[in-house]
Amino acid sequence: TIFLGVESSCDDTSIAVINNEGTILANVVSSQIKEHAPFGGVVPELASRAHLRNIPVVFQQAMDQAQIGLDDIDVVAVTHGPGLIGSLLVGVNFAKSLAFGRNLPLVPVNHIRGHIRALFLEHGDLPLPALTLIVSGGHTHLFLVETPDHFVLLAKTRDDAAGEAFDKLAKMLDLGFPGGAIVDKLAQSGDPKAFPFNMPRFSDGALDYSFSGLKTAAAHQLRRDPQRFSEPEGQAIRDLCASFQSAVVRHLLQRVRQALKVEKVASLSLGGGVACNSHLRQSFRELGDKYRLPTYITAPKLSTDNAAMIAAEGRHLFQQGITGSLDLNPEVRLNAFDEVRLLTGR
Ligand code: ATP
Ligand code: FE
Repeated sequence: TIFLGVESSCDDTSIAVINNEGTILANVVSSQIKEHAPFGGVVPELASRAHLRNIPVVFQQAMDQAQIGLDDIDVVAVTHGPGLIGSLLVGVNFAKSLAFGRNLPLVPVNHIRGHIRALFLEHGDLPLPALTLIVSGGHTHLFLVETPDHFVLLAKTRDDAAGEAFDKLAKMLDLGFPGGAIVDKLAQSGDPKAFPFNMPRFSDGALDYSFSGLKTAAAHQLRRDPQRFSEPEGQAIRDLCASFQSAVVRHLLQRVRQALKVEKVASLSLGGGVACNSHLRQSFRELGDKYRLPTYITAPKLSTDNAAMIAAEGRHLFQQGITGSLDLNPEVRLNAFDEVRLLTGR
């Protein structure tokens, strides 16, 4: 059985092919950095138009890379949410047309469950239950993955997502788009102790994530002494990037430690675009070593948006007899969890 995955939830157009064993035969990603860079963030209308232009090209590249033809595709899996409506519509309609035209089963996939499935795609034998942190441009979710199908939400962000926070810092410092990777690079030659950042705290004792306070603290440093940050890529900017990044990572791991106090787990895992962050990768592994837990992190190519993870989730669902119908519509909001058991400080 050959599975085609289609992903267009945000600003990456991607089509992938995986086989019955879950081997990736093609995973083509076309990013829209050029389209959105002048605006310092994703412009939904432009994203949608770029998906429309790119999707036939990306499809052909994926077919060539996998060395297959239309006749070889058995199942079409597509991201139907969460994401930007105009972006989702392009992928969903492409997948629906293909499924209708070739009379193939269509499997709707939740994008965030796809980010989790990427971990299984890469590390099939991941010991469960796993404590799984998914950090991306739109989500910061700490899950207890109890079985390959049952995900418990332990913590989520109240405001910005971790990736969004990196992107906003980059915008504030005029570093370019997309910000996360640039902050990561500049932070490598900065002093993480140069600027103080307090860990977020809530009066109700909740153990949610929150990144907007860290963003405000960074903005405050900028406003206090703009002169100091005037040299592009200067030392002050590097120091602020390093200090901010260190605070974000500390905050992310704070909740992981808290969860380890209450949940018995067999492994730790990390996915989503922010899993590309070098400091987070290193600190996450160190945490795993400290608790003597096997630790799994998706490779960068499977961390940021890609259709291989969508094809993998489609395969997982299809093997359980789960398929959708041709009246499938995109869902802007869609929960990735089966159960909520939020951590609390009490
Ligand atoms: P979601 O998955 O929540 O719908 P998304 O699909 O837009 O959001 P991803 O593609 O999974 O998000 O991740 C993109 C995010 O990852 C961006 O915010 C980007 O800045 C961030 N990111 C990528 N590389 C790094 C890095 N090295 N350090 C920090 N952040 C990074
Ligand atoms: Fe994503």
